[in-house]
Amino acid sequence: MSRLDLSDGFDVHDYRSKLKLLRQDAGSMSLANREGLGCPACGAEFDRLFVSDDDTVTFDAAPDGPICLARTDERLLVLTH
Ligand SMILES: [Zn+2]
Repeated sequence: MSRLDLSDGFDVHDYRSKLKLLRQDAGSMSLANREGLGCPACGAEFDRLFVSDDDTVTFDAAPDGPICLARTDERLLVLTH
């Protein structure tokens, strides 16, 4: 299983075939993992990936399963399992 590699930041275009864009707004996007990519934090396959360039983010609801966080210099990543 290939793992999401953040050593050089995160560019969604590197994963165009593996992540499906679900939602996007000015500073953030939600993506679905469709190729079994591994989480950069725990290594397990994740379900959804949320990426934000914003300084702050609020979620209205919490997912049922585990959550992992990862960050690059420019972005915050939230991964749900
Ligand atoms: Zn994880």
